[in-house]
Amino acid sequence: MRDILINGLESLNISYTDKMVEDVDALYEMLSERNKSVNLTRIIDKEEYYTKHILDSLLIVKTYDPDGKKILDVGTGAGFPGLPLKIFFPDINIVLLDSVNKKLLFIQDVIDELGLKGATVVHGRAEDLGHDTEYRERFDAVVSRAVADMSVLSEYCIPFSRVGGSFISYKAYDSDSEIDASCNSVRILSGSLPVITGAVIPGTDIERKLVRVDKISETDPRYPRSPKQISKDPLL
Ligand code: SAM
Repeated sequence: MRDILINGLESLNISYTDKMVEDVDALYEMLSERNKSVNLTRIIDKEEYYTKHILDSLLIVKTYDPDGKKILDVGTGAGFPGLPLKIFFPDINIVLLDSVNKKLLFIQDVIDELGLKGATVVHGRAEDLGHDTEYRERFDAVVSRAVADMSVLSEYCIPFSRVGGSFISYKAYDSDSEIDASCNSVRILSGSLPVITGAVIPGTDIERKLVRVDKISETDPRYPRSPKQISKDPLL
């Protein structure tokens, strides 16, 4: 079974140690156990865990080199893509953000159990923390998977990126119209034209689009707006 993971890592040119692979398996055990009491994931099959959680999270290497960077994972849920990034790129400094505290309690347990240094959790909504000077424009990269459509997600994420940094979102292969519709909102938020990279999750035939937006200048302090305004009147 581990071959799926190992072959996937090799096809993505990601170097690994035995300890990293053991950490991936330990995370699976913790996720399966906690999932009995807290709704963390629908993926319970180990092969699917390797492909749809671990290797999918690592697809970022197709568009961005995370090594040594300060990264924020917005809407991390049970820790994806943030935890796999931290396991395989131990030199990154990662902050895992979510509005649901019980998910973060799980992630904190994982951080403690695996002894991950340079990984912290933060509880709150992206729309609020995006105005907090501790987080606003402080990150080399902001990543997010399965949280909101591209236009809304841009308003959540771009304010956290430093000028010259990047926002990378994991989208489904058929998300072209959603990406096209977000170009104006990305521009309003001071992001570049999106760079779209197609990729297949190793060991599967699942195609992905990784969308990278680079931050050109500071984001107008009006953004992000309140959750109510964002949902009522998305930037288009
Ligand atoms: N990124 C994870 C993954 O791909 O497995 C979790 C995806 S889950 C479908 C969406 C997560 O985003 C949930 O944990 C939810 O609490 C969080 N979320 C949604 N909107 C948010 C917001 N505005 N601020 C912070 N977290 C948010």
